[in-house]
Amino acid sequence: MAAGHSAEAYQPNPEQLALLPDVSGNVINGLGEAATRRPTPIYWHRPDRLAHGALQQWMIKRFLAEPDLANVHERFGGRGSDKPNAIAEPPVTANPDEWASRAKSFALDHEADLVGIAAVDPVWVFEGYDVAAPWIIVLGVAMDHDRLATAPANPAGLEVQAQYNRGTRAARALAEWIRSKGYHADAHGGPWAGPLTLIPAALACGFGELGKHGSIINRRYGSSFRLAAVTTDMPLVADKIDRFGAADFCANCQVCVNACPPGAISHEQVTVRGTKKWYVDFDKCIPYFNDTLGCAICIAVCPWSRPGVAPRMAERMTRRRENLRDKPLD
Ligand code: SF4
Ligand code: SF4
Repeated sequence: MAAGHSAEAYQPNPEQLALLPDVSGNVINGLGEAATRRPTPIYWHRPDRLAHGALQQWMIKRFLAEPDLANVHERFGGRGSDKPNAIAEPPVTANPDEWASRAKSFALDHEADLVGIAAVDPVWVFEGYDVAAPWIIVLGVAMDHDRLATAPANPAGLEVQAQYNRGTRAARALAEWIRSKGYHADAHGGPWAGPLTLIPAALACGFGELGKHGSIINRRYGSSFRLAAVTTDMPLVADKIDRFGAADFCANCQVCVNACPPGAISHEQVTVRGTKKWYVDFDKCIPYFNDTLGCAICIAVCPWSRPGVAPRMAERMTRRRENLRDKPLD
């Protein structure tokens, strides 16, 4: 594993270069496509469904062979039970506002640090998957920044896994609670992808704004958190998106661009499946991500991720936005 950040010319391990498929990951992701469409599974799915499946398995095999990283799913408190209880009958009735409030309280009392609700948008569902549930409850779990700051070394990878375990436990506990009230609920926890892509759902839930590094910037934790989710038919109420100026800040910041060893982060927004946004070049990122068993440099160096910084920056950027709005036109 690489020992630290390095902007020196990066050369991928030739073993993984030999496993690269003929198709570009950026083409699979829909880079440059003007029309909106569902995402195609590209990583963290069953390898037999992926063009990059052999590459993914190469990385996972190396990850599991690292003594520091072995048995990560069982460590850090594990991931909770993956054997759901039956749905209680008959369903308990309450109004959607009350269920939303109770579900959020339950999540925050059971290991989640962030929680938000959105109506499932079919365009978030990966091709080849179905989601019948009308609602998604997205959970966020904060990472320890001191450990994250060691990225791309093993302590950061362990912290990522510890928080994926915690997020999965929180999602499974919430899903179990929802089933006990008589509703369907499925828990989704990383690093494996579920049937739908979580970042757009989390943005819709009010978790924050998309940063130049392709991750969410949250007004409390910056980019130092991980996602998990529950899809359900419990009647709920959607939250609102939260824009506080993080994207404006990104427009004038290049910290992650300069820190990314393979140069995968772009200064310019591009169109991906019909949406103009910042996008990380998959073909440049993934070899470095694989060689370092998880990288995470870009979210570690993001100034919003430093403990206690995001709330102050969010307040400052919100004031700036308000001042710009109030400024009379010349
Ligand atoms: S490091 Fe700077 S440019 Fe990159 S996501 Fe964070 S704020 Fe945005
Ligand atoms: S995770 Fe990818 S985009 Fe982020 S710093 Fe590492 S290589 Fe660059």
